[in-house]
Amino acid sequence: MISTLGTPTHPEQTLSPNQSLRPLTSRINSRGHLEIGGCDVVELVRQFGSPLYILDEWTLRRACQLYRDTWARCYAGGSRVLYATKAWNCLAICALALQEGLGLDVASGGELYTALQAGAKGEDLYLHGNAKSLDELNLALETGCTLVVDSLYELQQVSALTTPARPARLLLRVNPGIDVHTHEYIRTGQTDSKFGIGRWQLPEVLDFLAAHPQLQCVGLHAHIGSQIFDLQGHRDLAGVLAQIWRQGLDRGLPLQELNVGGGLGIRYVKSDDPPSIPEWVETVATAVQQAFAQAGIPLPKVLCEPGRSVIGPAAVTAYTLGGQKRIPPSDDLPQGRTYITIDGGMSDNPRPITYQARYTALLANRPEAEATQRVTVAGKHCESGDVLLKDVLLPAPMAGEVLVVLATGAYNYSMASNYNRFPRPAAVLVNEGEAQLIVRRETYADLIRQDVLPERLLR
Ligand code: PLP
Repeated sequence: MISTLGTPTHPEQTLSPNQSLRPLTSRINSRGHLEIGGCDVVELVRQFGSPLYILDEWTLRRACQLYRDTWARCYAGGSRVLYATKAWNCLAICALALQEGLGLDVASGGELYTALQAGAKGEDLYLHGNAKSLDELNLALETGCTLVVDSLYELQQVSALTTPARPARLLLRVNPGIDVHTHEYIRTGQTDSKFGIGRWQLPEVLDFLAAHPQLQCVGLHAHIGSQIFDLQGHRDLAGVLAQIWRQGLDRGLPLQELNVGGGLGIRYVKSDDPPSIPEWVETVATAVQQAFAQAGIPLPKVLCEPGRSVIGPAAVTAYTLGGQKRIPPSDDLPQGRTYITIDGGMSDNPRPITYQARYTALLANRPEAEATQRVTVAGKHCESGDVLLKDVLLPAPMAGEVLVVLATGAYNYSMASNYNRFPRPAAVLVNEGEAQLIVRRETYADLIRQDVLPERLLR
């Protein structure tokens, strides 16, 4: 089933979600509280506790639809959008993406299993990974999903698991040698990367494919990085892929699908200015059409696999504020610093400590109050670096108030951990005034579920 969204009820809802700091249904309600998906955020915290991931269904569906419909409108060769589930993988999100007609990019046996349990079929699924295990390869082959093969070693493994009568459907992940301006940990297309087959290895790999008919190489894949604002890398990629495509055709490979990866950035802070989803799709579609026309080869079906720009802007994380620590000004710290604590931190959002990522926050109980105080929002983990927001302006915050950190849908829940044995937060999907639990809050009992205590260790 492909759903349609209701009519936008206010102008922001017509924005591309990745250009908006807040979920598109956000508004201030009659109590002066932040409302998302028709639900009062302060009430959500009262009902479900905190920290709490709050996911706006409308914003999520709009992002899926903008990708899907823009490709359909501006690309002649056919297309399918795959949601990159690494950004947030759970049953409800996989099911929603499938409902919108998207396929799913999965990057492990666990992501693949979750997608299958959510109703995905083999033809919806593309399995990534630069070091897939034999179990993962077997699960993928049994379920008929397409393998995105990362190395000659993996091709050798897959050829040993298949026969011409039981072939594998695969895309070849190539490393295009394209460097983009983003954090080094999320850059993937440069030559010095663990991902993909280097251009110097291609002749050997293409010859191997041509000699092994059980390896049905139906296309190419490349992903150049994440949180990208400058589209030049994507334009360059189309040219590189068209050249490699030509080499594959020359060896008789049955190429049909060109997967251009994901990577479109989102707005985390006011100064971020990413291109919209339609701009990204139009640019990539034009680049692929031109590159293939120049190379004199028929247009491929295009796949793309956005993660962050689909789910990132749709969610916020709500925390309850705790105590404060004021450090007076000194020679070393001329402004002094005020730390305010929250009831979560790097275990529910590891991006600041990992990538120095920046976020925007507001108070859900008085979102319009003037931001007059400079504060540093500190998590509750035993790490000095566990700081979610450094030196941001907020209305003088008080213990017990609800702090909302915006645009936390991507790589927060999916990278969450149990560090310090914190139970991971719950997640709710909000829409038209209803909130549905999609991930239960972990309990202390959940934390020891996999522990084994040998009897001889008991006192
Ligand atoms: N595809 C691949 C192979 C990736 O590694 C990633 C993430 O880094 C994505 C897609 C999704 O990227 P993004 O979330 O930036 O759209």
